[in-house]
Amino acid sequence: MLRCLRELEESQWWPPERITELQSERLQRLVLYSYERVPHYRRLMDGRGLSPGDIRTVADLPLLPVLTKSDVWDHTDELLASTFPRRALLYSRTSGSTGSPLAFYSSRQGRWSHGFARSLRALQWAGVYPGDPVLRVIERGGFVGGAPLGRLVRLFSREYFEDPVRFTDASLPAVVDRIRQLRPQALRGYASALCIIADFIRSSGQQAPEVGAIVTGGEQLFESQRVLLREVFGREPFSKYSSFENYDIAMECEEHAGLHVAAEDLVVEVVDDEGRPLGPGSIGRVIVTNLHEYGMPLIRYDTSDEGSLIEGVCKCGRSLPRLSAVIGRTGGTIYTPSGKRLSTVSLDSSGLVPLGIRQFQLVQEQVDHVTVNVVLGAEAAATDPQALIAWVQGQFVDWLGHDVHVDVSIVDRITPTTAGKHMYLISNVRGSLSE
Ligand SMILES: [Zn+2]
Repeated sequence: MLRCLRELEESQWWPPERITELQSERLQRLVLYSYERVPHYRRLMDGRGLSPGDIRTVADLPLLPVLTKSDVWDHTDELLASTFPRRALLYSRTSGSTGSPLAFYSSRQGRWSHGFARSLRALQWAGVYPGDPVLRVIERGGFVGGAPLGRLVRLFSREYFEDPVRFTDASLPAVVDRIRQLRPQALRGYASALCIIADFIRSSGQQAPEVGAIVTGGEQLFESQRVLLREVFGREPFSKYSSFENYDIAMECEEHAGLHVAAEDLVVEVVDDEGRPLGPGSIGRVIVTNLHEYGMPLIRYDTSDEGSLIEGVCKCGRSLPRLSAVIGRTGGTIYTPSGKRLSTVSLDSSGLVPLGIRQFQLVQEQVDHVTVNVVLGAEAAATDPQALIAWVQGQFVDWLGHDVHVDVSIVDRITPTTAGKHMYLISNVRGSLSE
């Protein structure tokens, strides 16, 4: 793992051509291996008349189809490499809290050595180094990677935990006190959970505890949340994108201008509904190929997340490609009667902050009907509720279009999922890409 980290520390400064070259080499090796050792890919490539030599660069990848979660579900055994006895692989399961649960396998090398090294490099961009105190706001059961990785993490860092599922008005003062005492180099967690803390600090009128950095992950960081965290803690949050299947994928650097993909280890494509790659600026499905997973190779794996690639070079000097904000499984897409497909990432919710709206959630019951549930903070008391509702309604009609009827409902709380995540969009309307 430390060797992998050292390599990543160097390669992040390489020119783009050199990173592309490394990607191609690793991709060729993975494709050849998958053809020889993984029945699913052998069958797939034979069926399409492809040989491993046909896939030499990332540009050749679309010759292979996108691998969906249901493909993994249906072909688990055929996706395992014959090289590895099953007992040598790590078995993991997604929690299924926000979608359908999925079981999959990974190699120790792919997950622990490379995956953990990516995570450490990402934290370095936020100024967090092994051994620094870190407070993680995460439900214990949701600790990514399970117990062995947890032990490994604790060898290298001083990690402390707070469980957001237990947050109440009565428990939050103690949480804030704990942050004050620990003075963590990083406060990490779901954006929505960190915002509950930030909002409590703000509404109780106290001074925010000192933290070195704010690192959000596991769900989309909305603009309104970014503003709240920045204002309360005086730090620009770092948004990190990771998944259960591929561990760390991308994270913001100190420029906060998109999320740099760990392109040495992963190929990230953004594709349309037919699996065709989209250019920078177009929002589509995020497809990941992990170049180091040889136990259960996932080539062109559909994360069910959405995002877009960013054009140009980052000011930080790293040529690693960048993703826009990624819409996680808690966000999603709204389809409207006129055929619009609106990603929740395109919703600018920063206007909701000054109104005193703490949380919101969109529920799309029908293609032409959306209910916006809002939770109000104390500062909203000064506003006339009818005026506030009308204003919120106007904001969402502007965004969705006049063919969607918008109702606004003021609620006491929005129930998080069992994993403690906050669902921004609950939709009964399915798009053309069903899961
Ligand atoms: Zn950068």
